[in-house]
Amino acid sequence: MILGVLKNYKTIYNTFHEVGKSFPIKDMVDQDKNNYFDRTLWNHFSKHGLHGLMAEESYGGKGFTALKTAVAYEALAYGCENNGMIFSSIAHLVACVEPLSAYGNDEQKSKFLKKMSTGQWIAANAITEYNSGSDVYNMASVAVKKGGDYIINGEKRYITNSPVCDVLIVYALTDKTKGFFGGVSCFIVKSDSKDIKISKTKDKMGLRTAQMGDIKFNNFEIEAENMIGKPGSGGQIFNNSMIWERVVVSAFLVGQLDRMLDKTVLFTKKRKLNNKNLFEFQNIQHKIADIKTILNAGKNLVYDAAYAIDTKPKNALTRASIAKLFVSEHCVNAIKQLQEIYGAYGYLIDSGIEREYRDSFASLLYSGTSAIQRNIISADV
Ligand SMILES: Cc1cc2nc3c(=O)[nH]c(=O)nc-3n(C[C@H](O)[C@H](O)[C@H](O)COP(=O)(O)OP(=O)(O)OC[C@H]3O[C@@H](n4cnc5c(N)ncnc54)[C@H](O)[C@@H]3O)c2cc1C
Repeated sequence: MILGVLKNYKTIYNTFHEVGKSFPIKDMVDQDKNNYFDRTLWNHFSKHGLHGLMAEESYGGKGFTALKTAVAYEALAYGCENNGMIFSSIAHLVACVEPLSAYGNDEQKSKFLKKMSTGQWIAANAITEYNSGSDVYNMASVAVKKGGDYIINGEKRYITNSPVCDVLIVYALTDKTKGFFGGVSCFIVKSDSKDIKISKTKDKMGLRTAQMGDIKFNNFEIEAENMIGKPGSGGQIFNNSMIWERVVVSAFLVGQLDRMLDKTVLFTKKRKLNNKNLFEFQNIQHKIADIKTILNAGKNLVYDAAYAIDTKPKNALTRASIAKLFVSEHCVNAIKQLQEIYGAYGYLIDSGIEREYRDSFASLLYSGTSAIQRNIISADV
């Protein structure tokens, strides 16, 4: 599926490329050093509808398909170099807005979705725990029914957006005998309770402009009406949101690589060594050719997986994992290759080049590590 031949996708691409490009980022190096969460950039994204792309229009969204959403994020990442903020926006959209849109009831949507879709409220998705990252089956957080309420106890880790969030999507065990599918339920809660403690995570390697935190629920009482879907449907809700997340983060990565590639090609055409442009060296041309090939393959895998979400074949999960595995592993490596082309300059923090590699590295971990993607793919051959 080639993006350029589909006129309406080209329009979406151009629109969100402009959204990314048009916001003046003052000092990215400084923002990265200081873990600066740029609320004005968040608001700029919100103004253009990014935080509710797939939500229904009646709840402040744009009603985008997965393919349109992927194209929008690819274009945004091509236009905007604040990778952390793009990641922050994806965590909000695909792991929070999407599950509420797909499984929430009208009351929940009226109460939460509109404010989330319009970016007025920032959302975070809390599933990972100390002993339950890849192994989601080992979840320890519990939600115990008490009358018309649930009491949640447990600790969540590495939760993107949590230090700045207004709303949390939380997964907890409601029936220990049933495990992940059937035993886990999904809740939507306001994060400002005294029984929810959010502590900011220490410095991380990359995506530093996205905020991350750990969360403790201490006898946190929540009405049963805040459960999304039925008791025990949390596993299915989470899995569905992860399919979206794997596709949209992969779109973000190909957009980032595309931007880096074009920027580096320009650099090689300007930088002179022995009276030759760097671009004239065959090893540089071949490196660039290899990366262009990876980029085209990666884009097509992303569109294929997004199309699978929209058309719902049985293998949508596998196709999303194939896209995520290929794109994350190849993009991290390709960005490292591009950094080498800058020589020592690319190693300096002030160049802004090394940050691109640090930002990309987390893709090998979040939304399921590469090993987990391989487990999913090999289970379907
Ligand atoms: C930038 C970033 C943002 C994140 N945001 C969120 C968020 O918003 N919400 C949230 O809930 N979580 C979030 N996470 C957590 C993320 O989902 C987990 O880090 C991830 O699931 C891996 O879990 P873990 O870190 O506990 O590693 P572990 O599960 O301990 O894995 C350690 C190593 O063992 C390997 N391994 C584990 N199990 C298997 C297996 N079955 N087969 C083969 N190898 C295996 C892994 O591949 C990995 O290399 C985020 C993480 C990062 C890095």
